[in-house]
Amino acid sequence: MTGKIPLLNMSPEIESIWDELMASIQDVLKKGQFIMGPNVKEFEAEMAAYLGVKHAIACNSGTDALVMGIRALGVGCGNEVITTPFTFFATAEAISRAGAVPVFVDIDPATFNLDASQIEAKITTKTKAIIPVHLYGHAVDMDAVLEIAKKHGLKVLEDCAQAFGCEYKGKKVASIGDGGALSFFPSKNMGACGDGGMFVTSNDDVAAQVRMLRVHGAAKKYFNETIGYNSRLDEIQAAILRVKLPHIDEWNAGRRNVASRYNAMLKDVPGIITPSEAGYTKHVYHQYTIRITGGRRDDVQKKLGDNGVGSFVYYPVPVNKLPVYSGLDCPTLPNSDMCASEALSLPIWPKMDEDTQETVVELLKSAVA
Ligand SMILES: *Cc1c(COP(=O)(O)O)cnc(C)c1O
Repeated sequence: MTGKIPLLNMSPEIESIWDELMASIQDVLKKGQFIMGPNVKEFEAEMAAYLGVKHAIACNSGTDALVMGIRALGVGCGNEVITTPFTFFATAEAISRAGAVPVFVDIDPATFNLDASQIEAKITTKTKAIIPVHLYGHAVDMDAVLEIAKKHGLKVLEDCAQAFGCEYKGKKVASIGDGGALSFFPSKNMGACGDGGMFVTSNDDVAAQVRMLRVHGAAKKYFNETIGYNSRLDEIQAAILRVKLPHIDEWNAGRRNVASRYNAMLKDVPGIITPSEAGYTKHVYHQYTIRITGGRRDDVQKKLGDNGVGSFVYYPVPVNKLPVYSGLDCPTLPNSDMCASEALSLPIWPKMDEDTQETVVELLKSAVA
């Protein structure tokens, strides 16, 4: 193996559908409708069918899908929303943008996802919703979350930015709570060639709210009812995503295959904890994330980098410890802190070949030895 091994190589995917992509992009250019055209409409219908939901509403980004979704679920000023500290900042940012306050519960280090058994202790009279994040492509234990939500009258918004195609007990994530937010950021499992996102729900009223919010808060053009956003998915991105959608199950299966090879190769390596997969989920390995114990993570990552292997820390600082939330006075969340210092995501993509993987594993083994 010569040259560098990236964290993600998108070229094989793009190459395998190149001609179809070119044809669909050219078709958009010829038709000349670039905003809210036929591809967006068809893509929304295809996504709703794939996920098993009634409404799919395309927008500008996963972040916008979260912000609009939270607002549409009735969260606003003075409310609290319970979520995980071990996620990308956008999850909590969306809560704050809606005027509410994020309340963080610790995670289960086995799945890196929020520990549902710790939610109830954080519920107050101000709590309005829970945002579980299916981190790295592994589903949260949704039955546990839904049971608490039902008992306390809370809404559940799934952050599925990293988990497109992931299943929880045979159902697609995003179809389980009151709403789901997806991201089509290029590096996500289903990535556009630019920014994009989608909010999905089976609730007619919530869907109508989000449809209105995405076009400046106007259900009828020029009759604006509320302060909204300009948050639409471009027609070209919709056309690209429509070409990709029929391949997504195969690509996710490819990721699962790469992950199981890593698991087998790394299972007895001292100092490494391989990711586990709970019985209730079908993991889609947006990231293949190991833990490196004994305070060695940063050193191991540096050694991999020196040898041309890309790796990444998602996330070095838990959200509750970011400067922006220094005023929140959040208690210490030990599992989240531990994972922030131990997690390391290794190279993975659907068509990653065995030789490349063996190189990564050999270099990793010598780095931890
Ligand atoms: C990527 C991501 C988002 C935001 O998606 P964008 O499309 O980049 O705005 C939100 N939550 C999580 C967990 C993510 O990984």
